Amino acid sequence: MESDFDVVIVGAGVVGLAIAASISHNQRTLIIEKNSNFGLESSSHNSEVIHAGIYYPIESNKHLLCIEGNKLLYEWCNRYQVRHKRVGKVVNAINQGDLQNLEDAWHLASESGARVRRLTLNELKEYRKNIAIEDGFFSIDTGILDSVNFLKSLEYFAKQNETFFAYNTFPINIQKNNDNFNIQIKNHDDSEDQITADLIINAAGHGAPQIAAMTGYKINGEDANVPIFKQHVNRGIYYDIVNNKINHSINNLIYPVPINQETMQGYINSSGGLGIHLTKTLDGNLKLGPDAEWLNSDDEMDYINDGKKAKEFYFAGKSILPKLNFEDVTPAHVGYRSRLHTKENQYADFLIWKDKQYIHLGGIESPGLTSSLAIAKKIKNLL
Ligand SMILES: Cc1cc2nc3c(=O)[nH]c(=O)nc-3n(C[C@H](O)[C@H](O)[C@H](O)COP(=O)(O)OP(=O)(O)OC[C@H]3O[C@@H](n4cnc5c(N)ncnc54)[C@H](O)[C@@H]3O)c2cc1C
Repeated sequence: MESDFDVVIVGAGVVGLAIAASISHNQRTLIIEKNSNFGLESSSHNSEVIHAGIYYPIESNKHLLCIEGNKLLYEWCNRYQVRHKRVGKVVNAINQGDLQNLEDAWHLASESGARVRRLTLNELKEYRKNIAIEDGFFSIDTGILDSVNFLKSLEYFAKQNETFFAYNTFPINIQKNNDNFNIQIKNHDDSEDQITADLIINAAGHGAPQIAAMTGYKINGEDANVPIFKQHVNRGIYYDIVNNKINHSINNLIYPVPINQETMQGYINSSGGLGIHLTKTLDGNLKLGPDAEWLNSDDEMDYINDGKKAKEFYFAGKSILPKLNFEDVTPAHVGYRSRLHTKENQYADFLIWKDKQYIHLGGIESPGLTSSLAIAKKIKNLL
């Protein structure tokens, strides 16, 4: 008997939506989302940066999908009029002590295939009027976008292709049959339904390990044929800069090079982030962050910035912006990275794993927003 759906996607974040928009023209698709709308978790609590792909180990999923996703995202934004700006990014050695780390970062960036160039002496002189900078390089294709409008455009195209959206709904039981799945779902009014699907795509972000476990997979690497699905949660907090003079004096993203570490990757792996940096917003302002802090469990995700890190952010900001005052920083939003657990703290790449009629997307942290259209293309090719 034919299943109710060809594909059920769990999770309407940017990844689930991009996949739905890409496959639903010839697959009867249902998206199940536990929240009342799309993109209410990581996909709307991030830096909204279109990354260029300069920081990741060459040929890793993050590297390849970010490079391809960057191009696809600019094309998408241009075609469907999603607000965005190719503002570029300065990777900044703030002082002499950062110069070796700058060379490491420059080496990796030059190998990445992304467009990068060293700052000229004249440019350095100009930047020094507003920021502390000893030396640096420029990533040409780093940009910013209106992520909510991007998500809306993806939902629109998925709906045009007659994707069904079940919001306020989540699976409570998944049974694997020989050639399809029975999925028991709980609806917004607490009623339950039973549906069948030929394929499940698990794009549940923080919830991905739980869905994998419900489908019958071991998530801690106990089964040699199944990758580790377990994820660690890492909090990133932002502070806005509320000083128009400072905000309008800078037109790019400014990222300090990682401090006191031999390589970029070692730094990212151990700290969980890229270090507090300056992001330009589409409305012309600047924000500081995100920082990085490991949490013990997903239950600690409350999306609240209690303002207790104001001093820390002020000092981090002041090291880049000498004219910053303490009153200029004010608490902003919070996001949560879902970092894949790896053996012996190896590089945590994006996990895209297919087992017959099940596809798992694990550890889709940054640059997942940038990579989303490339991830969707990859999934389409797997079907
Ligand atoms: C602080 C921070 C900054 C970032 N900055 C950038 C950036 O500047 N550029 C960039 O490219 N990337 C960035 N990222 C990464 C990017 O935000 C993520 O990679 C991306 O949003 C992941 O999308 P997703 O769809 O996989 O996950 P999510 O957006 O989390 O979506 C998963 C969805 O699944 C749903 N779900 C979970 N469990 C269930 C369940 N049991 N049943 C039904 N639904 C379920 C959730 O409600 C959610 O809507 C950042 C991330 C963080 C945390």
